[in-house]
Amino acid sequence: MIAISTWNFGLPANKVAWEIIAQNGTALDAVEHGVRHCEADPEVRSVGYGGLPDKSGIVTLDACIMDHYGNCGSVAYVKDIKHPITLARRVMERTNHVMLVGEGASQFAESQGINREFLLTDDARTRWKQWKKKQEFSEINWENHDTICMLAMDSTGLLAGASTTSGIAWKMHGRVGDSPIIGAGLYVDGSVGAAAATGRGESVMKMCGSFLIVEYMRNGATAQQACIMAAKRLAQQQKDWSEYQVGFIALDIHGNYGAFSLKDGFQYALSTPEGHKLCDAQYLETP
Ligand code: ASP
Repeated sequence: MIAISTWNFGLPANKVAWEIIAQNGTALDAVEHGVRHCEADPEVRSVGYGGLPDKSGIVTLDACIMDHYGNCGSVAYVKDIKHPITLARRVMERTNHVMLVGEGASQFAESQGINREFLLTDDARTRWKQWKKKQEFSEINWENHDTICMLAMDSTGLLAGASTTSGIAWKMHGRVGDSPIIGAGLYVDGSVGAAAATGRGESVMKMCGSFLIVEYMRNGATAQQACIMAAKRLAQQQKDWSEYQVGFIALDIHGNYGAFSLKDGFQYALSTPEGHKLCDAQYLETP
């Protein structure tokens, strides 16, 4: 059993996930409920309720979930649902589709008995108003993005992954990043392993980051080697890579994990039978 997730807010999320897998619950339940904890926390300003809005002052959320067997569900540009990860799971389990966006996703939520909620907190509104005065768009800022991605393996050896975010703060209205895109922000293949990405979504989408990591593992790389290879591939493909952050996590079917980022500062939370800890990821050297 193991759970790995992104950033320091991954630690409390992992603890929720761990309670589930430690009691022989499924990895799928663990990742859903783990990241729900983060979605509900208004102090986390880049995920769920309390997330910072786009440049028009509207919070839009993206999420996806994937199981051991390749089933997946995703929602994007959702304005009024507090737990997009649960909605993504409903898309996976209760529709014939993989992805629903915007108003259609919210209508589907209502049909599932999930109420619409207003997501912009007073704190997020105040920050947005301050930003509007200056109209600064900074892509590299610890405060203005970061997604929770979680990968877990349960006591039966099954894998699952989840990703949920409010995306990059002050983004263009309508912008969707990598986090709800299967193969970019998250990918799980029960015969190989799982991977997820955080950071500048546009860069991850351009190289199908999570899918690539799983394919590297399929071809013999360890989880750690695969994360490093993906970061190097990104840097090779995108010449401006040193100007932004991207972090990858991976987990193989034997329970080996990996984490690696472009720049210093990426942290991941790790939970094993030995306990929970927050770790600093290794990163690519600047050229
Ligand atoms: N990947 C997210 C996005 O581009 C942001 C992040 O994880 O930092 O929306």
